[in-house]
Order: sequence, then C-alpha cells, then structure tokens
Amino acid sequence: MTTSFLDSLDAGRLCWDELQPFPREDPAEREAGDARVAHLVELLAGQLDPEEVDRIRELPAGLVEALKRHGYFAMSVPPELGGLGLSPYHVFRLIEGAAGWSPTAGLLLGLQNTAGAPALLPALPPGPVRDFVSRRIAERATSGWADTEPAGHNNAAPGTTATPTADGTAYLLDGEKLFIGNGSIAELLVVTAVVPDPDRRRVCVCFVDTSSPGFSVVSNVDFVGFAGLPNGYLRFDGVRVPRDQVFFTAEDDVRLSPTVAAVAILGRHTMMATPAVAIARRCLEFSADFVNRRTIDGRPLGGYDQIQRIVAATLADIFAIESVVAWNLLGCALTDRWFERYVTKNIATLAAWRVADRTVSLFGGEGVETPASKRRRGVPALPVERLFRDARMLRVAGGVDFQADHVAGRLLLSRYYGPAQRRPSGTVADADPDVARDADLTPANRDHLRAAAAEIRRFKQTCLNVVARHHSLPSLLVDEERLVLLGGLARELLTMSVVLARAASREAEDGQVLADVYCVQARHRLDDLWRRLPYGAEPDYAKLSTAYLSGGS
Ligand SMILES: Cc1cc2nc3c(=O)[nH]c(=O)nc-3n(C[C@H](O)[C@H](O)[C@H](O)COP(=O)(O)OP(=O)(O)OC[C@H]3O[C@@H](n4cnc5c(N)ncnc54)[C@H](O)[C@@H]3O)c2cc1C
Repeated sequence: MTTSFLDSLDAGRLCWDELQPFPREDPAEREAGDARVAHLVELLAGQLDPEEVDRIRELPAGLVEALKRHGYFAMSVPPELGGLGLSPYHVFRLIEGAAGWSPTAGLLLGLQNTAGAPALLPALPPGPVRDFVSRRIAERATSGWADTEPAGHNNAAPGTTATPTADGTAYLLDGEKLFIGNGSIAELLVVTAVVPDPDRRRVCVCFVDTSSPGFSVVSNVDFVGFAGLPNGYLRFDGVRVPRDQVFFTAEDDVRLSPTVAAVAILGRHTMMATPAVAIARRCLEFSADFVNRRTIDGRPLGGYDQIQRIVAATLADIFAIESVVAWNLLGCALTDRWFERYVTKNIATLAAWRVADRTVSLFGGEGVETPASKRRRGVPALPVERLFRDARMLRVAGGVDFQADHVAGRLLLSRYYGPAQRRPSGTVADADPDVARDADLTPANRDHLRAAAAEIRRFKQTCLNVVARHHSLPSLLVDEERLVLLGGLARELLTMSVVLARAASREAEDGQVLADVYCVQARHRLDDLWRRLPYGAEPDYAKLSTAYLSGGS
C-alpha cells in the first residue's frame, strides 16, 4: 500500500521510514519523456512567440490544431482513443516543458488534459456517459472544466441548474460560469450544476456540446498575466443536455465521489504546479544571465553575499517543488497521497512567487522593465516582469492562496469530527528517541530532520487542543485563522520532510546543501506560523472592519 505523509501528521510522529526509499523515475521513461518534451517545445517554438502573445493577448491561429494533431490534447488518454497514454508524472513533465516556453501554452494544455473531459474519463464507469465522452475525446474535442460562477467559486453548491425535461430524456441547463479556462474555445465543457429538487438536492456534472442552442460566450476574460489564455464568461440559457451526457454518483454531490475528487485534486495539482516550476526555472536561468554580466564597483555581482543567498534560495525552492511532485506522482495510484497533492497547489505556487519576487529585486530596474524597452536599449530582453505577473496569477487560479490553506486545515481537522473508524487518533504517538539516527544526512540536515519530527509532534498536539476547544464541527469552522495556520504548517512540514528524504536518497547532486538551504528558510516560515497560532489577546479585527464596511470612518 502507498504510504502518505498524513500518517505522520495523524500520529504526531514523523514516519521517516515511509519516506524511504525516495521515489525515482525509471531511466528509460525519463529518456522517453525528455524526447517528448523536446518535441513539444520545438513545436511551440515554431508557432508561438511568447512576447508577441503577451502584446496582442491572443494565441496564434493554428496552434490548438497543431497540438491536437500530435496528441497533446489527450496526453493521458489511452492510445485506442487517440491519446498518448502517458503516466501522471510524464504528463506533468510534458506540460511543465510547454510552460517553460510559454506559461500560457502550459496552462492551456493543463486545462485540457487535467481539468477537461480527458481528465474525467477515469472517473466514469462503463455506460452511456463514458461512451459519449470517449467518442468526443476521440474526435479531439477541446475541453474545459466550468465550475466557478459570478457569485464566487467558494459557494458550496453551484447556482447553475439542470432541470429534468418532462419526458425524462434530458436536462435543461441554466446559469452562468465565469473565468473558465478554454471556455471561449471549448467544444465540450464539463459543467457543474444542481438539480432543483426540494427533496434531494443533487449536484451533477453535465458534458455540454458548445454547439448546443442556448450556449453563449458572453465575453472573453483577460487577466494581468497568462496573456492570450482562452478564458470565458459563459452563459447557459435552457441548453438541452441529453440524459446520457449527465453524470451522477451515489453521493449527492458528484464532486464528493472519491474518484471524481481524486481526479479533481490530481488535475489541480498538475495544472497549477507545472507553470509554477517552469516559471521558477526560467527565473533561475534569467538570474544567472543577469548576475554573470553584472559587476558592482568592479566586483562580479555573483561574489556578493546577498546575491549568493538569493540564487541559492531560488535553487532550493525549485528543488523543493520537484521533490514534492516526485513524491506525489511517482509510483502512486489515482487516489493515493490526496492530501499531499491538494496542498501542493500552495507549495508550488508560493515557491514560484517567492522566486519571481526575489528575481525582480535581483534585476533592479530591469526587473520591472518591459522586454520591448530593454530591446530599445540593447540589453537582453528577459521577460522577468511577465513571469512575475504570471506567478501572481497562480496564487488566485485554482483557489486563492489563503483559502487553499484554509481548506487544507478544514480537511485535516474535520476528520476528527467524522465517523469513529476514520477519525485520527486522539493521542500523540510516543516520540522516536532519534529519528535522524540512521538517516544518510549531513549534520545540518540531521538537525533539520529532528526539528521536523519535533514540529510534527507539536502539530498533532495542537490539532488535539484545537479540536478539544471546539466541541462541534460548526464551531471549528468559524475559527478560520487557526485552520489557515494549521493548513500552512502542514504543507511546510510536508515539504521539509520530503526535501530531506530526497537529500538522503543521494539521488540529486548538491541535494544535501539544497535541502539545508531550503530547511533554513522553511523553519523561518514555520516559526512565523507558530507565533501566530496561540489563542489569546488579539486586536479587534472584526470591530475595525465591520465598522468601516458598514460606513463608519
Ligand atoms: C487564470 C484563471 C483560470 C481559471 N480557470 C478556471 C477554470 O478553468 N474553471 C473554473 O471553474 N474556474 C476557473 N478559475 C476561477 C478560479 O478558480 C477562481 O477565480 C478562484 O478559485 C477564486 O474564486 P472567485 O474568483 O470566485 O472568488 P471568491 O470565491 O468569490 O472569493 C473572493 C474572496 O473571498 C474569499 N473567501 C471565499 N470563501 C471564504 C471563506 N469561507 N472565508 C473567508 N474568505 C473566503 C476568497 O479567498 C477571496 O479572497 C480560473 C481563474 C483564473 C484566474
């Protein structure tokens, strides 16, 4: 059985043995993956100029068709349906490669492959819905996942309704969806909707052909980053969806079915972490270019202490994202390591944000100067400011950053109020006398490992204290600050543990020093989260904000 870091968090004891041996990609698969990445990047480079796309805010004509022709719109789909049949890790590497050339192209591919109909296929049981979706995938339909609505993504149920027709052969879809990736070009949309039944409110997924009467793209949505990404504000006005295109599960909300939830979590993981790691890597390359051509007072910039720290921190952040992704995907099944995959959205996008932010500072004026302006001056037109805009977007798309920590905290702690057989233990496991005893780590990393183990103990005890304070789930849910902080602590502890496990595997050159740099930074962030956690006297945030929002001064 595949192990999960949740075992450690639930026990309050770092299960170091479960992180060993650290997963590795099969060398033959790696070679095949490298070749495919090279092909995709070459295809993109021949068709798409990222600067031009940023300027005109549109993808080149013919790009989508070219990607489809080579199977890149069906990466994980079985070959018998015209797909490439790739593993989740291989899909990750391919989309990351595309995002390295153009984050917009990466997100386009992410939306299609990890959120659209091809991603849902493994969750569909044999039957008419699966047959319909398979046929449309084989026809290479462009797809997207339409869930967010103008009223807000975080509402528990969609406002869009699917009303059964009198003869029972179809549903009529009414509502609006907003910010839908690929929505303005999609041929087959996956749309969440509620069946308006006073006795049993059910949320279903409708596979909607966008050629159906009543469907319209109200407007194209344009963002500060990811320029050119097809994104739409969509309307469904009595769209007739045949019964065989509507998917229900035993759960009242299809999104809560274990397989659909696993597909959604894996998809969000890959869609968000691929551009994140690609942006971080490009920033690193740009940093090297800048530092190596710059001197200050006749001394190479790379010789200064602060600059060395910046470059090292970026290297370590990239090492951390890569390590977590390998842990999440290699040798795992669809439903494995769901918690790790869920929190990786923030692990990857916050790391990418740190990298982009420090790269802007490193570049000084050139960090906020447009490539066109750089070209006019005759300096390398590195698009740092564009990647900075893209990186900021990643903290919103797929769930706002603090909200993602909030949900992670809720997922962890709500289990303490669930059925007894699934409830985490009510005690903290005995401490391991020395978790670092046999770890193949440098003295500094052994110290980090002991610190991680101690913090995992403290984390478990804190969860128990918070649960003891809230005798019911509704009471816990009001305590948003604690949930956000615990969600943040959990992802930092996961990343630190996984980074150390990878370093101990001696698989990566410089793994030990990368882990050391990463853990030092992570421990500063952990200290900050712990400092904010205790209950006690706090400023009256509610009073201040309520007074202002209700029209006070
Ligand atoms: C580039 C991009 C691509 C996207 N692609 C898609 C897509 O393909 N399909 C799709 O369905 N959506 C997509 N989205 C939408 C995206 O998932 C949402 O924008 C995001 O989840 C935030 O939701 P919202 O904009 O509706 O804000 P809201 O959910 O309305 O949130 C507004 C504010 O309220 C806060 N908030 C919400 N709930 C709570 C709470 N309980 N307690 C405290 N604060 C709360 C939020 O954190 C936020 O600060 C995309 C967005 C972007 C930017």
